[in-house]
Amino acid sequence: MAYWLANQGYHVTVVEQASGPRLGGAAINIQGDALASAKQMGIFEQLKAHRLPPMQLEFKTADDITLNPPSLPEETATPSDDNIEEVEIERDKLVTILLDALPNGVDFLFNDRITGLNETADAVHVTFKQGAGRAFDLVFGCDGLHSGVRQLWFGPESEYAYFLKHYASLTIVNRLLLAQDTGQLYNTPGKGVLLNAYNGKTDIIFWFYSENELPYDYRDTAQQREIVLQQFAGQGWRTDELLAEVKEAGVSYFDKFSQIKMPSWTKGRVALVGDAGYCASPAAGVGASLAMAGAAAVAEALATHDGNFDAAFQEYNHTLRPFIEEVQATAAMMLNTFFVPKTEEAICERNAQGIPF
Ligand SMILES: Cc1cc2nc3c(=O)[nH]c(=O)nc-3n(C[C@H](O)[C@H](O)[C@H](O)COP(=O)(O)OP(=O)(O)OC[C@H]3O[C@@H](n4cnc5c(N)ncnc54)[C@H](O)[C@@H]3O)c2cc1C
Repeated sequence: MAYWLANQGYHVTVVEQASGPRLGGAAINIQGDALASAKQMGIFEQLKAHRLPPMQLEFKTADDITLNPPSLPEETATPSDDNIEEVEIERDKLVTILLDALPNGVDFLFNDRITGLNETADAVHVTFKQGAGRAFDLVFGCDGLHSGVRQLWFGPESEYAYFLKHYASLTIVNRLLLAQDTGQLYNTPGKGVLLNAYNGKTDIIFWFYSENELPYDYRDTAQQREIVLQQFAGQGWRTDELLAEVKEAGVSYFDKFSQIKMPSWTKGRVALVGDAGYCASPAAGVGASLAMAGAAAVAEALATHDGNFDAAFQEYNHTLRPFIEEVQATAAMMLNTFFVPKTEEAICERNAQGIPF
């Protein structure tokens, strides 16, 4: 968002509650409109340079039998840029590439957050946790699933968040626990363990169903680790060994699967972009793509309407919505049917059918 606004001549201030750019996270996927906007931003070559090879996904039984032995990779010619439909990249790399693409003059306020918003006829007056308040033409809430801007300007998270009755944790270990560029998925009813190996590292992802929301402190990673250890104790396959890794390394990401559904992502001079406005949950596998595509869409609308934010925000709400609704519906279906089937029969069916990525 900062990139597009700065290139349209806005003086941009980014407010980030962390002490610096937030790195970490699993390998993520850039596709569709996000890839098209990456090309417009001139970062496609860099994304391509850090592109991870395609992953072979295997389904595992409790006895470590592979149910779908991977086929040998087909001998294909190197795809031309026009044929590349998606780029899988480590989240760290993507964040660094995006930061490097920013033009000069973008200000960052780290260790800070917005505490108040007040709109007048020609500005939004913003107060901060640190430092003096300031007036801005526009405010974009790009602050994720638990957005503070949404909370302040549109109302509590509970009005917009739909709990998908699953949780996930991520632990990244700096060595290979399976063959490089391989994924393995093991399920018991209502639970799943996914391993992804790339660049000498392994992502360990635990998914589980929970009818009710679990009480925990989102800042307390030790408590989150305990939840994962309890949920997966004695679940078979390699879970004991993997839980030992979690015990040692902790969890770098733990959250419920939620989707944000709002009748409008804008109000007055304030707009929400990415997870803040339309999180589809990690089950969609396209959170970063939605954020990038959303930023490009709202920026393009501002350019088309020559800075008339009312008209631009209307267009943004209108044009992006069908796509978001489709992605959210697919994510909920994928989670229940393919990633975390709820019965032994459903697991067998999924294993026979494969996962339609
Ligand atoms: C460290 C990290 C690791 C992640 N790992 C995974 C993963 O492994 N798999 C997956 O599917 N998804 C992961 N995600 C989520 C995924 O990256 C997002 O779906 C996607 O990036 C959407 O981007 P976004 O910009 O809308 O929100 P986010 O990427 O969540 O970025 C929001 C930013 O806003 C900051 N912020 C939040 N609240 C405030 C506030 N009140 N004031 C100021 N700043 C605030 C956050 O610190 C963060 O930097 C991760 C996100 C983060 C931040």
